[in-house]
Amino acid sequence: MSSSDTFVIVGAGMAGGKAAETLREEGFDGRIVLVGAEPHRPYERPPLSKDYLRGESEQPAWLQEDDGWYAANDVELRTSSVVQSIDAGDKAVVLGGGERIGYDRLLLATGGEPRRLPVPGGDLDGVHLLRTIEDSKAIQGTFDSGGRLVVIGGGWIGCEVAASAKQKGMDVTLIETLELPLLRVLGPELGAFYRDVHKDQGVDLRLGAGVEAIEGAGRAERVKLSDGNTIDCAAVVVGIGVAPRTELVEGIARVDNGVIVDERLQSSVDGIFAAGDIANAAHPIFTQHVRVEHWANALEQGPAAARSMLGREVSYDKVPYFFSDQYDVGMEYAGLHDPGSDELVLRGDMSSGEFIAFWLRGDKLVAGMNVNVWDVNDAIQSLIRARVPVEDRRLADLDVPLEELVPADQISQR
Ligand SMILES: Cc1cc2nc3c(=O)[nH]c(=O)nc-3n(C[C@H](O)[C@H](O)[C@H](O)COP(=O)(O)OP(=O)(O)OC[C@H]3O[C@@H](n4cnc5c(N)ncnc54)[C@H](O)[C@@H]3O)c2cc1C
Repeated sequence: MSSSDTFVIVGAGMAGGKAAETLREEGFDGRIVLVGAEPHRPYERPPLSKDYLRGESEQPAWLQEDDGWYAANDVELRTSSVVQSIDAGDKAVVLGGGERIGYDRLLLATGGEPRRLPVPGGDLDGVHLLRTIEDSKAIQGTFDSGGRLVVIGGGWIGCEVAASAKQKGMDVTLIETLELPLLRVLGPELGAFYRDVHKDQGVDLRLGAGVEAIEGAGRAERVKLSDGNTIDCAAVVVGIGVAPRTELVEGIARVDNGVIVDERLQSSVDGIFAAGDIANAAHPIFTQHVRVEHWANALEQGPAAARSMLGREVSYDKVPYFFSDQYDVGMEYAGLHDPGSDELVLRGDMSSGEFIAFWLRGDKLVAGMNVNVWDVNDAIQSLIRARVPVEDRRLADLDVPLEELVPADQISQR
């Protein structure tokens, strides 16, 4: 790479911000343009449904504490700027006002767009989505006025918002179309565990329930369920998943549940890379394409993509990892499992609130989740990477240290 090269990063979120940092750390001395639609420098999103939402931290979790870092490192951070299109033939991005920025390498890090609820009243005032600092602040504002918050969607974001709202003294109803929260990602046993966690905290759970409409005179006042029941509320938060923001490259690069990238995180177009929520990446360990909508993936894929843009050898093979905090229940999950077909093995008693769930495919570990049990996730990840046969009875045995199950040479290879 030469110092006359221009690298453009679209999306000044977690993956994009980390990529810009890495390019400078790796010694790239060309031009870096980091274009972000939001009015902020890059920040981490997990606190937006946790401590920041509850007003326990004043500042967002900036990737760079010092907002002068970007200028000091000659990273052109264009906030409140939207890339409208990509001219791949001419190798340029086109901004809202028509400005064109030519690139030698392009990184797409546009993240995900929260899905709106497609029902009458789904866009009334008082119906919130949660992706940005402003969204989090707006929901926090509803906590101040009190009353009932209806959370639609029992996935991670919905469950965390329900927990935060409850901790702030709101009455909370959580509506989920499936029979259990988190059923699709964790399966029935763990879904039932989280159902009970919320039930014990006094959340009104409406499971297997559909939403027909949100009603009110100009703003959300009640939620009408498909069974005819209505729930009066002060506000609504919709957490029904996100869609990868791929529209910029549709018709340019291969898109299928995100931008398809190889192990180097390069798309089907030479010189165009993708990282974070938007990247559906070939994964050497899982031997399939994997798209991960989690924090650690964005923080690690951004740097990996940056190194790849610089022509370094990259094969992105991190085991997917995420965490969630709800009330006093903290968990970490590593791997990738199919709750419909993989075998669940438990170490510890779920009713004690401290246990590890493992998922086996055949005799190999594909995922593990530690709940209020700490300092074990590294061993879980090593075991997944090792792809060695492991006996379910040893996984379940509290007296067998997890490290004992990992071949010695695999611990150091992570
Ligand atoms: C409330 C909340 C809580 C979460 N909690 C957890 C958690 O506990 N654990 C966990 O592992 N993960 C969590 N996540 C997920 C994690 O934050 C995401 O996986 C991560 O933010 C993805 O990073 P990204 O860089 O791919 O996308 P983002 O961080 O979304 O950044 C993408 C950026 O691109 C910008 N952009 C999009 N299109 C354009 C365009 N055309 N031009 C310019 N800019 C554009 C967007 O405005 C955005 O700023 C949470 C997410 C949310 C929203």
